[in-house]
Amino acid sequence: MDLPFSESFKIKMVENIHRSSRPERETWIKEARYNLFNLRSNQVYIDLLTDSGTGAMSDKQWSEMMLGDESYAGASSYYKMKEAIKEITGFDYFLPTHQGRAAENVLFSAMIKEGDIIPGNTHFDTTKGHIEFRRAHAIDCTIDEAFNTTLDYPFKGNIDVDKLEKVLKSHPKEMIPLIIVTITCNSSGGQPVSMANMKAVRELANKYEIKVFYDSARFAENAYFIKTKEEGYAGKSIREIVREMFSYADGMTMSSKKDAIVNMGGFIGFREKELFEKASMFNILFEGFISYGGMSGRDMNALAQGLYEGTDFNYLETRIRQVAYLGQKLKDYGVPVQYPFGGHAIYVDAKRFLPHFPVEEYVAQTLAVELYLEGGIRGVEIGTLLADRDPETGKNRYPELELVRLTIPRRVYTNNHMDYVFAALANVYDRRHEIKKGFKIVKEAPILRHFTVELERVKN
Ligand SMILES: *Cc1c(COP(=O)(O)O)cnc(C)c1O
Repeated sequence: MDLPFSESFKIKMVENIHRSSRPERETWIKEARYNLFNLRSNQVYIDLLTDSGTGAMSDKQWSEMMLGDESYAGASSYYKMKEAIKEITGFDYFLPTHQGRAAENVLFSAMIKEGDIIPGNTHFDTTKGHIEFRRAHAIDCTIDEAFNTTLDYPFKGNIDVDKLEKVLKSHPKEMIPLIIVTITCNSSGGQPVSMANMKAVRELANKYEIKVFYDSARFAENAYFIKTKEEGYAGKSIREIVREMFSYADGMTMSSKKDAIVNMGGFIGFREKELFEKASMFNILFEGFISYGGMSGRDMNALAQGLYEGTDFNYLETRIRQVAYLGQKLKDYGVPVQYPFGGHAIYVDAKRFLPHFPVEEYVAQTLAVELYLEGGIRGVEIGTLLADRDPETGKNRYPELELVRLTIPRRVYTNNHMDYVFAALANVYDRRHEIKKGFKIVKEAPILRHFTVELERVKN
């Protein structure tokens, strides 16, 4: 008999979670105004809201916490982190920050001015927020294939080099401080960027003398996809692939809450001293001195260790196969999910799940609430609520895709939990024809409303 695939870790510490009853969940979700962000975590059985900062640290990371050096300047923890970043990414200079968006804030303060153009593949929402906050413009140059959830294309995170060249050609280089490549592309579903595409972007950037930075939250998952899907990389190690990826960039921003498997932390990596020095001033202003920048020594230690573990092939295989395990079960059952599966989440296509449902009643949110009622599972709406209103007309913006994201935390749940999630969603799918009514908004914030929105059921 062939031995089956199994996890590359065993469990040393457990955290109990509680299954609730449907009547309990009905009360709780109503009290939460049908907004899953308003639920208390103990009202959730399986929490798939995000994979950001929700991973389980290893025994080695916890022991590194005890060795943290809390000196204000020149701490050994700073040097440990510097060494790990140099070894894994190849970047000589770095600045620690408290999380990914802080890295964006510091870097963009040094690079972006009003009116600038920042092309890339679909910019993550905080990245776009930090660009637009500076009255600059994020231009999405993702390939068209990314927007078809059923098309089987291995690198849906790729940049369309023709679209990119058009942007580079039509503006003076002084207006384009950098190109941002997001690996994997979170906003298009954790979809990877191929090495060939990174190389092509580098060549174009050289031609037009523009810098390239990677938004790198899930760089290791991206490397795993290159190894398993791109020709010529099967025999290379994850670390070799990561080094080659970053060799095509001038620097990186990192949310370490993702692939560095820590609960909080981030950094910026730089190739050039000059830009590092310019950004250092903003780091000191916003984050803290350059040798800790918003992180304690123990957290820098855990992060350094997490970078090594996050780029280990066996870890990545366990993680990405778990995501695909859930995705494949749903797909086989006929539940419409984005395909191919991304690195960190399964995206359920709510419009195809509930085709006759009125989108004005928030179809993806309705599905997310149904899944919570069915099994105490918390996913997140990526649809009209997230898209906010048009600032000019005040009308809802209806995005092309209405998705429910089921995000899998790193090293937290077992495949039995995935079976449970599958069964709950399959039950909802079986009774999809009974789901006819959604929600209306009773209270909302002017921007980023999905965090705090309050809803009420539409009456028959
Ligand atoms: C999470 C994330 C960020 C922001 O990082 P935070 O640590 O949440 O501030 C930026 N870009 C991408 C691609 C991300 O996934």
